[in-house]
Parts: sequence; structure tokens; C-alpha cells
Amino acid sequence: MGSGASGILTTIQLIEQAGDVDIKGRLRIQVFDRDGDLARGPAYGTLHDCHILNMRASTMSMYADRPEHFCDWMNVQFREDGGAVSGDAYVPRSRYGRYLREQLLNAVEGAQRQGVEVEFVTAEVTDCLPGSGKALVQCGDVMYPCDAAVLCSGDIAGNRFPQLTDTPGYISSAWQYEAIAGIHQSRSVAVIGSSLTAVDVLVMLDALGHRGEIHCVSRLRSLPKVQGPPSPWELQYVTRERVEKLTEHGTRQAALAEIAALYRQEVELATGTAVDWAAVLGSAHRPVADTLPEDIREAAEGRNRWYAALDATGHLAPYLWNRMDDSSKDVFLARYASLWAMYRHSMPLPNAEKIWRMVREGQLHAHTGFRSVTRASGRSHTLTYVADGREHEITADYVVNATGASPDITELDDPLISNLLHAGRLRPHRHGGIDVDFATGQVIGLDGTASMPMYFVGPLTRGVHFYTHSVETLRTNAAATARALLRDLD
Ligand SMILES: Cc1cc2nc3c(=O)[nH]c(=O)nc-3n(C[C@H](O)[C@H](O)[C@H](O)COP(=O)(O)OP(=O)(O)OC[C@H]3O[C@@H](n4cnc5c(N)ncnc54)[C@H](O)[C@@H]3O)c2cc1C
Repeated sequence: MGSGASGILTTIQLIEQAGDVDIKGRLRIQVFDRDGDLARGPAYGTLHDCHILNMRASTMSMYADRPEHFCDWMNVQFREDGGAVSGDAYVPRSRYGRYLREQLLNAVEGAQRQGVEVEFVTAEVTDCLPGSGKALVQCGDVMYPCDAAVLCSGDIAGNRFPQLTDTPGYISSAWQYEAIAGIHQSRSVAVIGSSLTAVDVLVMLDALGHRGEIHCVSRLRSLPKVQGPPSPWELQYVTRERVEKLTEHGTRQAALAEIAALYRQEVELATGTAVDWAAVLGSAHRPVADTLPEDIREAAEGRNRWYAALDATGHLAPYLWNRMDDSSKDVFLARYASLWAMYRHSMPLPNAEKIWRMVREGQLHAHTGFRSVTRASGRSHTLTYVADGREHEITADYVVNATGASPDITELDDPLISNLLHAGRLRPHRHGGIDVDFATGQVIGLDGTASMPMYFVGPLTRGVHFYTHSVETLRTNAAATARALLRDLD
């Protein structure tokens, strides 16, 4: 259910792995999508070339065993545009969408030759019910029986500021690209949030030739740090072996302090120097105008070796999260997640350079300490933030909510998730999103068991897998779900 990146990766994995369990002639896959489009979710459905991948091309292959696959594809598709595409490039996300679509269509063609049937259904899935040990996919009045269902319905933008709903000039999600494109160029804009989602809005306004003043306002921390050049880093401390030893092979959970100590040692080894951790912890509120020029220089000269070390841990993040105890996770999410994201989810250098130009030219002002947003008069909105111990006020004609998805699924306005939640067929996870089995993605219901053949692949498993906003994790999870599902069907 859903034909974004997760649905496509899962379908391809099902097709590829069908041979391993000798189910080919009996396998029929139905791919549901409410829009009938492939790879047109918020990430890869954008048509604006200023929206680039947040990761280098070399890390974006759909196939874990063929890391060069995306770059090779790019080089066939876009060679005429100006020579070979470097693996270090940050390419427009729309191209990645095209890559996903093409791979799926190729896989479907191949599948049909091997007797695996794939059918695309354009319909909104409204529920998924149990039916004699199997599942019934409901689309309005129509039921589709199946042996197993995989939900790949993506992330859902949170409605963080309900008081502004239907207010002229309020854009409730940074993923409403056409609404952002409609912002009057000379008007003032406030972007709420400071993650890569907010960066997307800022670079989009820049690309559209926006001339009005822009305020980027966030609660806890400044805009992301800047990614350094690719430099392979062989992990010495943050390794499976060390964590297995630490947790006595999974017989006990690790504490946050223990995992943090491994990261500290890894980063200090990579940077070759003792890190001033108090300065790092205090960096969340430092004004962008003070930090960004040095961050850009450091990244351009390849001096931010801490990034290479953090980046190298990407594939281990779900495993490390799984090995940590629940109260450590609570503490991490409450106190450090925002700072972690600021460093770990650094922005690509080309975006940082655009943002610094906007700051230097006096167009963009970034503030932390965000407190409130209210509608003032007419089209205008008032935002407040606290800095230097006092409250400040700004007004803006447009407000864009760039705070991204809400971790709390009980707040989401989505019929499918709401129906499943209210029927107890899924339950919220203590650390955000929905609860699933870590190894297989099988959905866990209100009674604490995974009794239905229903799985989830995608960002909503964030409480279980932590790092779900990357193709790297989605690729791993799609393969694991396909494996488990086919094994059960065999
Ligand atoms: C803006 C942005 C940029 C990102 N950039 C990167 C990056 O550079 N590199 C990286 O590795 N990761 C990136 N990610 C993370 C991740 O790769 C994407 O979030 C990815 O697109 C998630 O895919 P998905 O299929 O789970 O969700 P989506 O892409 O949102 O797809 C969900 C699909 O399900 C359909 N759907 C939803 N509900 C229903 C329903 N009830 N019935 C039928 N169909 C339904 C929707 O129409 C949609 O087609 C980014 C994420 C975002 C949001």
C-alpha cells in the first residue's frame, strides 16, 4: 500500500526474492496508491531542481549489493547534460524519483516473464482487516483479499499549528511545493523549523527569486551543520562487535552514556583531537551568522572529519537504537535528538552556500527560542521567540510550517492510520510512530502481538528503527520484510 520509495523497494525485493522460496508461479502483487503515481511522495515527487538529494549520489543505490547502481544509471541518463555524474554530486531529487520508477517498471517486466504477476491499483486504502488468518485491504466499499499486506504509506505532515488552519498566508506543510511557489516574491515569510525540511523551503524561495524578508524560526536549535567531502572512515569504536560485547550479546540493553562514549571516542579518533563537548552541546543556539561561514570553510576544505565518522555509522543506527534501553531513548529524544539531527543530518554544501548568501545579503534571519505564532490582522502573522533573556516579536505575511512529520500518530489526520489505530490493529510506539517487530516490520497491535500478516516499511517505524529517513534504512527494511513475508507464505 503506497508506491513511494518504500513501496517500490518492497515490491522489487518481493520480486527478486520470490525465486529463493520457489513461489514465483504463485505470487501476485497488487500495488495500491491513492494517486496512482510512482515515487511521487514529498521527497522525490518534487519537480523543483533546487530540491537536491541530501546525500551524495554514491550512497543512493536501491541495491545494497550494487552501490554504484544509481551513479551508473545517472551516467546513462544524463551524460549528454555535461559529462559523467560524479558520485559526490547532490543531484535533483526528481531524478531519483525517475530512477525509482524505472527500476520498478523494469523489475515488473522481468517478473512477468518469470510468472510473478504485478498489478497497479489506483485507490486510497482506508483500512486493512483480518480475514481468516489473512488480510483484507479495504478501499472504500471494495475489499481486496490477500495473504499479506505491506503498508508503505509514508510520513504524514503534522498539524502543529491548528490555530492557523485556513488562515490566508499559512502553508501547513513544507511539502506543499505549489503553495510555496505561489508566495508573492516581495512579501515577508516566516519558516518555522530548522531541519533539512526548512532548508528545502529556504533554497526553494531563493530559486524562485524571492525578494522579501525571510525569518527562519525554531525552538531548540539552529540550522544544520554542513556536510564534508566524502571520506571513507573505518569505524573503530561504534562497531557491532563492541556493542555486542557491551550488551553481553543482547542479554542486557546499553545505556545512552555507554553508546555516547563510543561515539565520543570515534569522533575524537576521526578528528585527531580532543573535542570540546561542552561547546558542542552549547552550539545549538549559536547564531547562524556566527557559525555558518566557518562551517562552510571547514566542509569545503574537508576539515570536518567528525562528519565522516558520524556518516559511517548510518547503517548501524537502527541496530544501536535497538540495543539501547527505553529510558535512555526517552532521555535522548527529550534532550539530545535535536542537536544530534543538527550534526548528523547536515546540509549539502551547495545549500549551505545559498543560505549563507541569503544571510549575508540581509534577506534571511535565523532565530532560535521560538515560542508562538498567531494570526495578527489581514494576511499578517505574529511570531515570538526568546533571545538574550527577552521576548522578541516578528511579523510575516506568510508562515510555512517546516517542522515535518509529527512523531505522535494519534495526532495524525490520516484515515488509514486512524482506522487501524482505533481498531487496535496497530499501536503507537513509545518513541514515536507505530510499533513493529524490529527484524521483520510486522505490525504489532494493541494487544502487543503481531497477529495479522500486516507489515510496515517506511518512516513511521521511527520509534523502532530510529533512522528511517534514508534510502539506506528503507532498503534494508524492505529486504527484511520481503524475506519474512515470503517465508511465511511459502
Ligand atoms: C523532503 C524529503 C527529502 C528526503 N531526501 C532524502 C535523501 O536525499 N536521501 C535519502 O536517503 N532519504 C531522503 N528522504 C527520506 C526517504 O528516502 C523518503 O522519505 C522516502 O521518500 C520515503 O518513502 P515512502 O515510500 O515511505 O513515503 P512516500 O514517498 O511519502 O510515499 C508514500 C506513498 O503512499 C501513498 N499513500 C499514502 N497513504 C495511502 C493510502 N491510504 N492509500 C493508498 N496510497 C497511499 C502516497 O500517495 C505515496 O505515493 C527524504 C525525505 C523527505 C520528506
